Amino acid sequence: MIPAREFDGKRVALFGLGGSGMATAQALIAGGASVLAWDDNPESVAKANAAGIATGDLRAADWASYSAFVLSPGVPLTHPKPHWSVDLARAAGVEIIGDIELFARERAAHAPKAPFIAITGTNGKSTTTALTAHILASAGRDTQMGGNIGRAVMTLDPLRDDRFYVVECSSYQIDLSPSINPTAGILLNLTPDHLDRHGTMQHYAAIKERLVAGSDVAIVGVDDSYCAQIADRLERAGKEVVRISKRLPLTDGLFADGTDLMEARDGRYERIGFLEGIGSLRGQHNAQNALAAVAACLKVGLDLGEIQAGLESFPGLAHRMEQVGRKGRILFVNDSKATNADAAAPALSSFPRIYWIAGGLPKEGGIEPLRSFFPRIAKAYLIGEAAPAFAATLGEAVPFEISGTLAAAVEHAAQDASEDGAEAVVLLSPACASFDQFRNFEVRGEAFRQAVAAIPGMEPIRGDRR
Ligand code: ADP
Repeated sequence: MIPAREFDGKRVALFGLGGSGMATAQALIAGGASVLAWDDNPESVAKANAAGIATGDLRAADWASYSAFVLSPGVPLTHPKPHWSVDLARAAGVEIIGDIELFARERAAHAPKAPFIAITGTNGKSTTTALTAHILASAGRDTQMGGNIGRAVMTLDPLRDDRFYVVECSSYQIDLSPSINPTAGILLNLTPDHLDRHGTMQHYAAIKERLVAGSDVAIVGVDDSYCAQIADRLERAGKEVVRISKRLPLTDGLFADGTDLMEARDGRYERIGFLEGIGSLRGQHNAQNALAAVAACLKVGLDLGEIQAGLESFPGLAHRMEQVGRKGRILFVNDSKATNADAAAPALSSFPRIYWIAGGLPKEGGIEPLRSFFPRIAKAYLIGEAAPAFAATLGEAVPFEISGTLAAAVEHAAQDASEDGAEAVVLLSPACASFDQFRNFEVRGEAFRQAVAAIPGMEPIRGDRR
């Protein structure tokens, strides 16, 4: 745990007692603060009490006595409307911060040289975070990974100048961290998302920009117009910027040329790494993630050999284009995290011949946006509530069957693919939520893995089980 010593002897109010809220309260208490915590859910309050955290309804609190109000990132700060606790803190003039801010302040005060890589973007955050941490750890660096990806940041091992921190930040967390100042900040991409919680795209983009604006070096994916503008603006303001592109030959920055990773300086190119043959980093979207990780690792002092070795041994993240098995020429890929059409697109674009398992609880728009990939689909196996609607969209364009269950879909797809004669992939990339048949996408992905493992003659591929 990282004790939050900057609030030693002070009173801090805290709202939101989920996993990260509890951990943050404990870090504050360990650092010497007096914490009063609350949550709208009585069960969470009871749990906090049992863990020795003082609780009390913040509606009745003496707000003037608090030095800070720590809010969980899941609780609305601005949109659709501020939570009641936010209104009370604002009325009393108490600053509102989150756990990443506590981390940033601890680092600034006690270990300002500790390399800190922070990652945000609309898509690819977790992959880039895990990849960066993996490269650092496999190069022998003392590496801590947390934030939005899993471990709450204050539960990481204590700050030391020679310890590396890789932290995934959601826009909610950045919004609550006014002094975030990473050694390397990564902004991968920006597309409209979560606008219910941020109001407008401008507001959403402005929050994400803050992470790179506060960094020593700003690593920015410039393949969308929002990020391209941010890179230009930061550079004009005098910031060190590394541009990343998965498709444009930049004159300065890092870009992908197919599976080659290139560095450009004043229009001169050099190959600095490659993704050829790395199954966990297939697809253009992963080139963006990999380039960002490479740029960050270079910034914190790794050499190209260490970085390439880390890329090659990256096991990938579970449920995101995760290779789970191979039988002869057929690869089995679990992309259960793809819960809408946009998220399924990268997987469909990464394989030329696909036996596609799709369906579940349908989202608006269905699979119409995926039409350009239909020629790659040898056959579709439709499951769950979405099956009839997906069947109607596929129509005459793609052969399909309504398999009903995931188990039947895996069995039939494996059988058909084995008779294919060509290299092919059996891909679960459902373009749907899972809740009609599974508790969540992780359980769905695990069911796929088990069904695949049960196929006679399968060679299982085990990656990272995070
Ligand atoms: P996040 O943490 O931002 O949700 P993940 O790394 O968990 O992102 O990836 C989730 C899904 O998003 C992947 O399965 C893939 O379909 C897609 N994805 C990953 N990286 C990118 C990227 N750089 N650009 C666009 N889509 C991506």
